[in-house]
Amino acid sequence: MQHLRQARATQTSALEARGAIVDSLRHLFRVIALSRVNYGLAYATDFACAAAFGYLGSHAGGAWTVALASLCCGAFAFSFVEYALHRWAFHSGSLLSGELHASHHHHPRRPSALPFCSSAVSAPAFFWLLTQFMSAHVVHFALCGFFAAYLSYGVLHHLQHSIRIKDLPFQWMRRKWAIHAVHHGREGVNFGVTTSLWDRLLGTYRAVAKR
Ligand SMILES: [Zn+2]
Ligand SMILES: [Zn+2]
Repeated sequence: MQHLRQARATQTSALEARGAIVDSLRHLFRVIALSRVNYGLAYATDFACAAAFGYLGSHAGGAWTVALASLCCGAFAFSFVEYALHRWAFHSGSLLSGELHASHHHHPRRPSALPFCSSAVSAPAFFWLLTQFMSAHVVHFALCGFFAAYLSYGVLHHLQHSIRIKDLPFQWMRRKWAIHAVHHGREGVNFGVTTSLWDRLLGTYRAVAKR
């Protein structure tokens, strides 16, 4: 009986210790993700990844038509990844990324980004994975397009929360800004920031109400 009690006490303290570690890591993630320094570094890392893949691809040789097609495919693939992560990960309250995105919805002008090292860590992993099926020439340019699109997404989203619609010079910009404003005003619609293609295809597009 005594042994059983001791085993239960050890098990409880191990669970408490594990819970405390998880809480500390979650807190650290939140502190990094909401910091201004991380926000700036995330842009720098995304740019560095796109530039590095472009540089390596251009020095590896190969047809420019293949390079251009790979670049476009990478950017197009990003548009779906952007939609999928935003819809199924960022709007899922149970995930840490969901918590972070909820903070963006509550305070849209406050800096929030995934830890800057996430691109630097995922870039070589993507490269390794994709070169198992495709040539390095194709993969270099596809990932250059992917990270360039990721950077464009970050810049566009930042501007959407920094410049007011009425201050925009072009109608297409006002329309794009308004589509994202609908996302912030209504649950479950307009997840695409760079394009509304996937929203239209997957039934989550909501048009902007005409005034
Ligand atoms: Zn959202
Ligand atoms: Zn937003």
